[in-house]
Amino acid sequence: MCLCQTRPTSPSRLYLSQFKAKMMRMLCRAPSSAMASFPPPSWMRRGLCIWPGGRQLCLRKNLLYGFMRFLSIPYKTLRGVSRSLGVSHFCSVVMTSSSLEVEMIPCLSDNYAYLLHDVNTGTVGVVDPSEALPVIDALSRKNRNLTYILNTHHHYDHTGGNMELKEMYGAKVIGSEIDRDRIPGIDMVLKDGDKWMFAGHEVLVIETPGHTRGHISFYFPGSQAIFTGDTLFSLSCGKLFEGTPEQMFSSLQKITSLPDDTSVYCGHEYTLSNSKFALSIEPGNEALKSYAAHVAHLRNKGLPTIPTTLKKERLCNPFLRTSSMEIRQSLKIPDTANDAEALGAIRQAKDNF
Ligand SMILES: [Zn+2]
Repeated sequence: MCLCQTRPTSPSRLYLSQFKAKMMRMLCRAPSSAMASFPPPSWMRRGLCIWPGGRQLCLRKNLLYGFMRFLSIPYKTLRGVSRSLGVSHFCSVVMTSSSLEVEMIPCLSDNYAYLLHDVNTGTVGVVDPSEALPVIDALSRKNRNLTYILNTHHHYDHTGGNMELKEMYGAKVIGSEIDRDRIPGIDMVLKDGDKWMFAGHEVLVIETPGHTRGHISFYFPGSQAIFTGDTLFSLSCGKLFEGTPEQMFSSLQKITSLPDDTSVYCGHEYTLSNSKFALSIEPGNEALKSYAAHVAHLRNKGLPTIPTTLKKERLCNPFLRTSSMEIRQSLKIPDTANDAEALGAIRQAKDNF
């Protein structure tokens, strides 16, 4: 049993006291047996965590911290925090191939914000803070300031924390020129092809419309990492709220033109449900079957499936496999349909899945 599997669903006082008692029991048992028996995924081994000794220390420290915090905050706030426990906070830092650390911050029910930390200068940025509290929490744990807020698009579940974080830390908000009137507190606008520097790390701005018209992705070539917001998910793509299948196809093409080993940090933990749809239309895809089983295992343990890699997505993500005969036959997409039309048909099928 690990912390992240505990989610209050009712705001009743009874449930609250049961939840507190459960937390107390778990504290006494730390580290959790489920976590202890689970081999670390590669992203953890790459990260700063030392496995298993450091992990256990990390777990104990975070359990204690979480419990102290639990007792000191109002219930309304607690609900948001407990929802974010759907993915564990401990050991969620990935050291990229450069001096950039990426820390995953679970927010709301299934969003991820990402803290970017340049270890050389101490500069910190956050990508898509849907709410401020978990970000403040992560910053205060390490006594860090926040200099930048990067938004992939204007949706509230990606920008909801902007104003509070900006007010608290004086951070600059960065987003698409197209969303200059829709992103709260925006200070700096960027467009396709712009290069921006984050503490010595080059950041390439790639316009990726389809989900929204102003959606951008942030690519860090030196760190082999891309933040794709709601354009590319693991095993899916974003819903087409303000764009066409052609636009989404073109956006995905831009992303998949990057190297195979690029790490993909997307805006939501949707992978498990995405895998069910993907398997339903391409049941013969061996790579997908294997990945779906791995994803189910991770989620069962309360672990994140993100980051994914472009290589994995090319092999498994149906929205990047529009030429797959099996997918086309499953959805009765005619041979004459082009890739964008096939993507539109796959998107429609997923919307109704
Ligand atoms: Zn969105």
